[in-house]
Amino acid sequence: MQIPSGVEPIVADRTDPALKEGKRNILGFDREDLKAALAEIGVPEKQIKMRTTQVWHWLYHRGVTSFEAMTNVSKDVRALMADHFVIDRPQVVEAQYSNDGTRKYLIRFADGNEAETVYIPEEDRGTLCVSSQVGCTLNCKFCHTGTMKLVRNLTAAEIVAQLMVARDDLGEWENPTEGRRVTNIVMMGMGEPLYNFDNVKKALEIVMDEEGIQLSRRRITLSTSGVVPHMERAGQEIGVNLAVSLHAVRDDVRSEIMPINKKYNLEQVLTACANYPGAHNARRITFEYTMLKGINDSDADAKELVRLIRKYKLPAKVNLIPFNPWPGSNYECSEWAQIQRFSDIVYEGGISAPIRTPRGRDIMAACGQLKSASEKKSRAERDREAAAAAAGVPHMEASDSALGWVTG
Ligand code: SAH
Ligand code: SF4
Repeated sequence: MQIPSGVEPIVADRTDPALKEGKRNILGFDREDLKAALAEIGVPEKQIKMRTTQVWHWLYHRGVTSFEAMTNVSKDVRALMADHFVIDRPQVVEAQYSNDGTRKYLIRFADGNEAETVYIPEEDRGTLCVSSQVGCTLNCKFCHTGTMKLVRNLTAAEIVAQLMVARDDLGEWENPTEGRRVTNIVMMGMGEPLYNFDNVKKALEIVMDEEGIQLSRRRITLSTSGVVPHMERAGQEIGVNLAVSLHAVRDDVRSEIMPINKKYNLEQVLTACANYPGAHNARRITFEYTMLKGINDSDADAKELVRLIRKYKLPAKVNLIPFNPWPGSNYECSEWAQIQRFSDIVYEGGISAPIRTPRGRDIMAACGQLKSASEKKSRAERDREAAAAAAGVPHMEASDSALGWVTG
């Protein structure tokens, strides 16, 4: 199939008006939620277990969008569910197709906030890059998302929904177990997943469920900028592969480009990596290292990277990411020859260090280029707050509430 390139606006507003009538969206429920919901609407106690299994299968294995389609569920129960619930996908406001096959979806949630999701097809796999927050609190200097204020955490339902709409677009529900197009998930979109721990955990549990979407934990990678207190917990409770955004081998440089380093420094991050449950050679930790010209890309940096990985005895590989520029960014990508030198030095140290080919650059879908329009909304909100403040109304600034996630 020839993959179209350019912008493909998806015009259908799929927000179900029933939501406005107070019906709840069943999509994004985990098994416990579903059981409780069925009991609540009056499904007889002795049927709950069976109905939960059936509805779960239709929702997450077959991807149906109506209760009507759940043909092995009795008519009465289908009608009951339709009276109380909807199966609602968020709206895809825009789908952009890159000439390399990458697809970027701008997804608008019920409250109008937006986040981006990227599908990256490769020869042997198809990876979906999923967002965990609208914006990000962490302001890494080289990252476009970092220029947004955090608007809010995404709910578990909204995280799962990103996969659902991608699978809709890719026509993947027809034959749910064969010829999969989304084979892997990386939590590497907008936001810091470990600052939205509970929702990310719940979403990934839904995605990994063996009677639903059935993605193995080995095919899921969570990327963190190094939120040390939650790293071990992520290993224990979610158990997916870990990627850590390292980007520098000295504290002064890392603090400059990633302010979170002032809170959790290199030593703490690397110690947390060494303690990550299940990190052995078969499931190595991935260190992401964005190549910034003149900042972190010297031969000495490469040697220090090898020394550190050895010092902490880390089963690790390094992904070298050529810096992806965005409008207004203050960095340049390292020279190609230097990226290769860097990679060679790390390889010579016995550590795999592939250079990641940028994908979807033409549609601004590459690493660190994601940024939705939701910031404008927060700016408008700030304007309203400023107006309220001027009128003497006490208020809390958006940044204060965002800080709650960081410190809370
Ligand atoms: N918030 C998570 C996921 C981020 S995106 C984290 O920081 O780990 C995936 C990777 O892209 C991260 O390693 C991130 O630091 C890196 N990145 C961000 N901006 C980039 C840019 N402009 N060019 C290349 N890589 C970038
Ligand atoms: Fe946030 Fe990750 Fe971007 Fe840093 S690199 S600002 S943690 S999304």
